[in-house]
Amino acid sequence: MTREKRPIVLTIEDDAAIRALIGGVLGAECDMRAAGTGAEALQVALEARPDLILLDVGLPDTDGFTLCRSLKQNAVLSDIPVVFLTSRTSTTDEVDGLEAGGIDYITKPITPAILRARVRNHIELKRSRDALARMARLDGLTGVANRRTFDDLLLREWRRQARTRQMLSVIMMDVDHFKRFNDTYGHGAGDECLKQVTRAAEGALQRPADIVARYGGEEFVALLPDTDIDGALAVAEGIRAAVVTIGIPHSGSKAASHVTVSLGGACTVPETDVEPSMLLEAADTQLYAAKREGRNRVKGVSVSANS
Ligand code: GH3
Ligand code: MG
Ligand code: MG
Repeated sequence: MTREKRPIVLTIEDDAAIRALIGGVLGAECDMRAAGTGAEALQVALEARPDLILLDVGLPDTDGFTLCRSLKQNAVLSDIPVVFLTSRTSTTDEVDGLEAGGIDYITKPITPAILRARVRNHIELKRSRDALARMARLDGLTGVANRRTFDDLLLREWRRQARTRQMLSVIMMDVDHFKRFNDTYGHGAGDECLKQVTRAAEGALQRPADIVARYGGEEFVALLPDTDIDGALAVAEGIRAAVVTIGIPHSGSKAASHVTVSLGGACTVPETDVEPSMLLEAADTQLYAAKREGRNRVKGVSVSANS
């Protein structure tokens, strides 16, 4: 297992003495950050991306409940657990805090052992939630986006580019004669091959917004925003050449003596009333044409979304 980083805890508290006290309780196991006002809190939270926030209710420029709601509405910060730490002991206050999105409500005076234990529990829960969310998004073997993530990203880009009238391209890619590869070298070697092919494909992408995903089995797909068909074909050719360059022996292949891939690219200007699957289908048709024509090659097409 990898050693986990020390958790970052942000204390939002205007009383310096209490901040120091909390630091004394948690400082041995957490990296502490502090803010004394609501305005400062948002800024520090965005910079530090804490694993947990300890929030006082009475602040000079706002109250903790309002601040908690703002944190929960912020797309970047909404997943950070907020624990109220306050001298307000009434049930109404506690309900307000939990309804504002707080995960816990601790009253002062602070009992060090209880604060430490609750903070540990919440950080552990946050970390397992994050790990599960990561696993749900990524392919377990290759570490790239899985099909669900790809479909979400494609839909998002499709809508965005329908607004901006930019060209969107996708590339479908499939390993040639991969069944024979497994039959010859074994499934473990097949898995290793898929990892290397993935790294080669990632290395051939040219822009930060480009992504590659595992679409299923030995099939991959790349999403290239703001890219015309010539750009997509250049990237596809780059991936094809990069896979050839690795030179993984494949004695059972009819296309070459090493592992190769076939790729199909498709490009369009998205329309909001057309499904993005049309672009994938167009790329898939190109991929199969590349297979038919002998594999280890690239084919591509530019399509009109509403034809
Ligand atoms: P083609 O050139 O026409 O694409 O032929 P192919 O043999 O690659 O295509 P086919 O669809 O017949 O076989 C795909 C193979 O990919 C069969 C399957 O066992 C293998 N495969 C799918 N997923 C994995 C995986 O995660 N690991 C390994 N090792 N093999 C996989
Ligand atoms: Mg194949
Ligand atoms: Mg296949």
